[in-house]
Amino acid sequence: MRIEQDIKLDYKDVLLRPKRSTLKSRMEVDLNRSYTFKNSGLAWNGVPIMAANMDGVGTFAMAQILQQYGMLSCLVKSYRAHDYKKQGAPSKSQSIAVSTGTSNADFDNLQEILAQSEWLQFICIDVANGYSEHFGDFVEKVRIQYPTKTLIAGNVVTADMTQELLLRGADIIKVGIGPGSVCTTRIQTGVGYPQLSAVIECADAAHGLGGHVIADGGCTCPGDVAKAFGAGADFVMLGGMLAGHDEGGGQLIKTDGNKRVEFYGMSSETAMTLHHGGVAEYRSSEGRTVKVPYKGGIKNTVQDLLGGLRSTCTYVGARTLKDLPKCATFIRVNSQYNDVWVRK
Ligand code: 5GP
Repeated sequence: MRIEQDIKLDYKDVLLRPKRSTLKSRMEVDLNRSYTFKNSGLAWNGVPIMAANMDGVGTFAMAQILQQYGMLSCLVKSYRAHDYKKQGAPSKSQSIAVSTGTSNADFDNLQEILAQSEWLQFICIDVANGYSEHFGDFVEKVRIQYPTKTLIAGNVVTADMTQELLLRGADIIKVGIGPGSVCTTRIQTGVGYPQLSAVIECADAAHGLGGHVIADGGCTCPGDVAKAFGAGADFVMLGGMLAGHDEGGGQLIKTDGNKRVEFYGMSSETAMTLHHGGVAEYRSSEGRTVKVPYKGGIKNTVQDLLGGLRSTCTYVGARTLKDLPKCATFIRVNSQYNDVWVRK
């Protein structure tokens, strides 16, 4: 047993220090980024924010709107080849990732989807625990089979595994264990890593090898997204912040005059019952089921998010999103904001 003494930080533990800036307006800020991926060799350009592959978030309808902003969507694992065929290629094929688990059935499904929808450029290999040898083997198998696709792999939270997955063929590493809004992994297992530190450490490890990282989970407001980019994230993935919108396709629930939408973790009992016929006896649920406020169409939320991000850039003097980590100085804080009028 050993204890690491240096403090690891979450988004809520820091704020960004404002700095002198020559920017006159938020309009001058460029949120677009261009990347060339390490193993696929593919180039990508867009606003590097993505929808999580969660029910109510990673839908075709969501992807259709997000692509208008240059954003990406990792689609839910439950979409089959015929769902992709029915939708056809989106106007920006760079805007969609097909998601898969690591079972033989998952691999068969992935092959079927890619055989029919060759336009897909991104494959998101997504498991709760990216530390198993089987996961690394699966990443390698997918890389061999699809040398020119861009592979997203995760989730991990440490430099060693970030590098291992990049060396086994992944292009983009998904970072986050336990920070998610409907995640109970830390309660059920005691395992996790404060997200800001995880992003800083994994980004540092990935960038040295020419890889990229996604900060996945734990963003509750546009300020958290800005902090993730400031910490070195190349992409930020959102679940809860994009939940509760029309495009998610969830059912509206009316209680006491308030409209709400059910939202649940993909390892929750709700999801396991829906997709796998129940929670297997040997495991427990590691996700919550909640009712989130209904927020209408996604466009307002996206504009609010991008507006916040532009504003961050003007506060710290970053002309482009690329400059944000260079301009970011985090200060550790004991409190974040004044919540006197916020209903508890
Ligand atoms: P959020 O943006 O809601 O804070 O986090 C979204 C992320 O939470 C997802 O991209 C995924 O990595 C993670 N997640 C989704 N469902 C579950 C779950 O049931 N359990 C756990 N541990 N994590 C989940």
